[in-house]
Amino acid sequence: MKSVLFDDQAIANYAKEKKVQPFKVKQIFYEMYKNQNIDFDDMTTISKEMRAELAESFVPISLEVDKIKEDKQTTKIWFKTHDGHLIETVIIYHRQPTKHVKNNTPKINRITLCISSQVGCPVNCLFCVTGKLGFSRNLTRDEIISQVLYANNYIKKKFGKKDDNTLHAVRNVVFMGMGEPLLNYDNMRHAIQVMLQQDRFSLSKRHITISTAGIIPGIKKMVTDMIDVKLAISLHAPNQDLREKIMPIARTYKLNDLMRSIDEYVKATKNRIFYEYIMIKDVTDKPELAKQLCQLLRGRLAHVNLIPYNTNPAIKLGESDMETIREFQRILEKFGITTTVRDSMGRSVKSACGQLWFEKVKWKNEENEDEDD
Ligand code: SAH
Ligand code: SF4
Repeated sequence: MKSVLFDDQAIANYAKEKKVQPFKVKQIFYEMYKNQNIDFDDMTTISKEMRAELAESFVPISLEVDKIKEDKQTTKIWFKTHDGHLIETVIIYHRQPTKHVKNNTPKINRITLCISSQVGCPVNCLFCVTGKLGFSRNLTRDEIISQVLYANNYIKKKFGKKDDNTLHAVRNVVFMGMGEPLLNYDNMRHAIQVMLQQDRFSLSKRHITISTAGIIPGIKKMVTDMIDVKLAISLHAPNQDLREKIMPIARTYKLNDLMRSIDEYVKATKNRIFYEYIMIKDVTDKPELAKQLCQLLRGRLAHVNLIPYNTNPAIKLGESDMETIREFQRILEKFGITTTVRDSMGRSVKSACGQLWFEKVKWKNEENEDEDD
């Protein structure tokens, strides 16, 4: 199998063998990360001969596109891995508020990329579609980085340059697609390093978010390795009993222990923690649970993100109504906890992170119907 063109070690070996000058190696990385190119033909700062030679040993990225669907707010991409698995990546466009809009075309403010870390997920939370798929394997570091390279190239082709003459590109990366990133720790860590590196993606650490169902050993490793990007904890329940019911992983990693490991993380990084709390009708949305959540987070550096549950036919759970969500939010805010309700961006088209599998099934059905026509 060919190596990817952004594999430092493979390129270093190649350069040594073929006696490629260091500045030419730098050009390769520049083409991929800064010029956002993933086609050899587009890498025009590299000579044609060298590109042809490189193409014999390397592929620019390690994923193939299976399908793309988009609307004004999101581009949903399904990638196929070399061994035939499908994974999802979502580009989310944050546009300027409409009051600033001229000619009815809101400008792009910033772009967030929601990436996958595993094929499926072994954690199997009751409410999650990805969990229902089971677990196939971890994504490699190349596959994680390839998602960002592809997205940047896609964005460049779609939007070109900003007013300041730099290219539109991914500004925020969230590990909220398929899989549990802290169960693929080493690859996640490597990918984050590449995201932060000045001569690679050069993202700010404040713009990278790891979302975890609460894998304590992973949180401890983050402290040891001082990975102080944003940490989102998928809490979803304020007590051990309910958490176990909806997240089987809570049996292994108990809520008390989880909170202790989070405290260590906060002590080491001084970072505020983002607690994700899913609003499932009559399960997680009761006022007494809001009060318990206040007690749990009392004195802790926290922000709560209330996520309206996304329904889907495979799971028999309902979505809380907005009034119940607002009441829950009021209780938290009265207690002094900053709380947001995740906006509905993309939800109408079921493009919220981790929710694309059903889209895929639907497309397949649509395609079959088309063939029948
Ligand atoms: N495994 C990690 C990251 C991927 S899931 C984690 O669980 O944190 C990304 C987010 O989507 C998590 O907060 C998850 O709880 C949430 N999610 C999963 N299924 C959902 C659903 N049906 N509706 C709304 N959010 C959901
Ligand atoms: Fe896995 Fe996260 Fe889904 Fe739970 S919510 S099954 S941890 S992807």
